[in-house]
Amino acid sequence: MYHIIYNPISGKKGSAAKSLALVEEKLKGAKIEYIVHPTEYAGHSTKIVQELSKEPDTKILVMGGDGSFYEALNGIENFENVTLGLLPCGSGNDFIKSSHHPKELDAALDVIIKGDSDYIDFIQLDDRRCINVVGGGMDVDVLLKYASMKHFHGKTRYYLSLFSVLLKPKFHKLRFTIDGVSSDKSVFMIGVGNGKFIGGGLPICPYAEVNDGLLEIVVVNEIKKRKILPAALGFLSAKHINKPYTEDFTAKEVTIEVLDDSKFEADGEIFGGKSIHCQVVSGKLRVFK
Ligand SMILES: [Mg+2]
Repeated sequence: MYHIIYNPISGKKGSAAKSLALVEEKLKGAKIEYIVHPTEYAGHSTKIVQELSKEPDTKILVMGGDGSFYEALNGIENFENVTLGLLPCGSGNDFIKSSHHPKELDAALDVIIKGDSDYIDFIQLDDRRCINVVGGGMDVDVLLKYASMKHFHGKTRYYLSLFSVLLKPKFHKLRFTIDGVSSDKSVFMIGVGNGKFIGGGLPICPYAEVNDGLLEIVVVNEIKKRKILPAALGFLSAKHINKPYTEDFTAKEVTIEVLDDSKFEADGEIFGGKSIHCQVVSGKLRVFK
């Protein structure tokens, strides 16, 4: 059976209903039977997927953006039962840009109707799973600012938050353990990538691939404050990656100990902890693609 997870209040006003109409029209046209599950509160899709994933041969089509995919991934109880379909609708569709899925809803539906599927990786953390990027440092500072700027929307809101943080940059004390080697760093920004992009298209981990069984770990170390703005502008086109202050690792796992009060984010969800362990998981999450 096909199940559609649908958030009626996602995206711009009226856009969710319009997207659902397109999804239903195309599934009906392909004679595919489905059930629509509207979500009623944040975290509801995790609960819905928990139940659905107990049944064999369950096809779960998630309408939304990174946050919706994150919620669905975190609900899966039995991976063997589930094929996930990613239907890009939300305001933040960063994962879809690096997952080799169509970026348009119509084309994404064609893939699902065709029915081919394959495995992609995800990141297992201590208490959650992440589909796209685990971020820290400036990334989280920007999200915290973003949450406080309620009068603005979409990319404008993100860029205003970004520039506000760049005017007063902070550095974060973290201890990294990668391949058994530990080192303490003062960090401006960090990304642990399954996907490449955050913040609506900023390529924090430009070489990350969703099916190579590896994480790309990018650490942008402390830099002189007067160099922050040029560094951030370079970041828009992935020029941060070749700078002397940037380190770029690939590994199956990384442990990050937090030596101050820094927080992290996984697919836009902020979380804390004294020690964060990220491990790539391959060959479990099956998606239409
Ligand atoms: Mg990878």
